[in-house]
Amino acid sequence: MKLTRRQVAPALVGLSLKADPPLKGGFVLEAQERGHQIRDRVQPPPTRRTARIPCVIVGGGISGLSAAWWMRRAGFQDFVLLEMEAEPGGNARAGENEFTAFPWAAHYLPVPSPKSGYVRLLCEELGLLKDGVWEERWLCHSPQERLFLHGRWQEGLEPHIGLSREDVRQFDRFFVRIAEFRASGAFTIPLELGIGKLKPAHAALDRLTLSDWMRNEGFYSPYLRWLADYSTRDDYGTGIDAASAFAGLHYFAARESEEHGPLTWPEGNAWLARQIAAKVQRHIRTGVMVTRIERAGGRWRVYAGDTLYEADTVIWAAPTWLARWVISPPPPAYPFESAPWLVANLTLHRWPAQKGTEPAWDNVIYGSPALGYVVATHQSLRTHIPKTVWTLLGAEPGLRTRPAPYPARRRLALLVSTHLRRPRTRPPRYPGLRRACGYLPDWACHATPRARIPHQPGQTRPLQTLVRPGLRQYGPERPVAVRGGAVPGH
Ligand SMILES: Cc1cc2nc3c(=O)[nH]c(=O)nc-3n(C[C@H](O)[C@H](O)[C@H](O)COP(=O)(O)OP(=O)(O)OC[C@H]3O[C@@H](n4cnc5c(N)ncnc54)[C@H](O)[C@@H]3O)c2cc1C
Repeated sequence: MKLTRRQVAPALVGLSLKADPPLKGGFVLEAQERGHQIRDRVQPPPTRRTARIPCVIVGGGISGLSAAWWMRRAGFQDFVLLEMEAEPGGNARAGENEFTAFPWAAHYLPVPSPKSGYVRLLCEELGLLKDGVWEERWLCHSPQERLFLHGRWQEGLEPHIGLSREDVRQFDRFFVRIAEFRASGAFTIPLELGIGKLKPAHAALDRLTLSDWMRNEGFYSPYLRWLADYSTRDDYGTGIDAASAFAGLHYFAARESEEHGPLTWPEGNAWLARQIAAKVQRHIRTGVMVTRIERAGGRWRVYAGDTLYEADTVIWAAPTWLARWVISPPPPAYPFESAPWLVANLTLHRWPAQKGTEPAWDNVIYGSPALGYVVATHQSLRTHIPKTVWTLLGAEPGLRTRPAPYPARRRLALLVSTHLRRPRTRPPRYPGLRRACGYLPDWACHATPRARIPHQPGQTRPLQTLVRPGLRQYGPERPVAVRGGAVPGH
């Protein structure tokens, strides 16, 4: 969409289009200044003390916290967890205003299947699973999802309105194919469980995009292609034109057909992060950035603020792409591009007008570059909720299409603003949302790996990387850094 100067100017100064109430807001969770110190190889402060410790965990997101929880549960207490932010949680952190808590990224936990034994153990310990029964309070209430299509809201994410017979046939056939992939046993969460059952035909799916696979199979229904595209944007931050067909089909086939849930909280997965952090509190040091990790004989030297830790083992639970900037000698190059994510929390002083089915936990607009709006008060037991917070999430929701001359911060302000505009604009927006949005749309940015087909021959494909994570192999005698595998099944 091309924006005129008249439309752009107010958005850039945090104002709005004529007749709409003014919007204020800004970035939160800004750690980039400190992050740039690592990129720019800024000399860290001199260390004042040395601490000998068997194990250091770098990063206090859900991976680092899970590793800490597991070690403590196993009776191992000689470790420290170093987190650069003031609060642990990473992508599972939250904000709060006078109406409700709200997530700053991760907002739900899919109900772990019996195959995800470690996650279920954790859920038991946190009181979410008792005698095989899930805590109803935090199982996502109905209605869970709705879709704005052809001018009204319908229940569920799978498009129902305006489909031709051929569209319906293609949906049926697609889900038959998914059931076949599921039955093969090769598409699992955790991924490792299915590796032994991967056939060459499955691995070949990692050489083409999901879009090409769908075309080869005769799936051209625009509604079906939209659902597939939405799903790969949701899980991998990239659409079907670039996402690996293996990754895209895994999204559908790894989910049990009878799956219920997910588990969700007003503050999203910060609920989990805070519960785990409380259990390992005495091991956590916050506000401590690890700037360098180097080999010293049989040990590792970890430089963190004014302390030098000498450790036998380091668990790298900070973002994988960062490892090369911190660990010496550097581990293999990080083989993925990252998808930029935008999260904006919108405080609504009233609920937008509805046409069609009532608001759900997740509210998705057909054709929008954003993923949807998650309602932070959805699990509330109150009967009347006049004000609420909705979380707008999107991987690259139009970032590339915004005019270039403005700095990134201004482009983001513009982006949040354009997502709130009237529904007749293209791509479609949430009807009535801009007027209901009172104030304080704050936003945060994150990055996640894209499971995309590489641009260059010779680059690693998603499946290869998932099956053999580079970091796990790194290190001479003993594993140096394990990320994402710290708690198998997570
Ligand atoms: C917008 C968005 C929505 C998502 N939604 C969901 C969801 O609903 N459900 C779900 O299961 N997953 C979701 N995810 C994915 C999920 O957030 C990640 O898989 C998960 O957070 C990864 O956890 P982590 O601990 O590996 O990394 P992170 O959460 O990135 O944590 C890494 C931690 O390391 C710290 N750190 C970094 N560098 C250093 C350093 N040098 N020294 C010390 N500390 C350092 C960081 O501050 C951070 O706390 C979402 C992701 C995004 C971006």
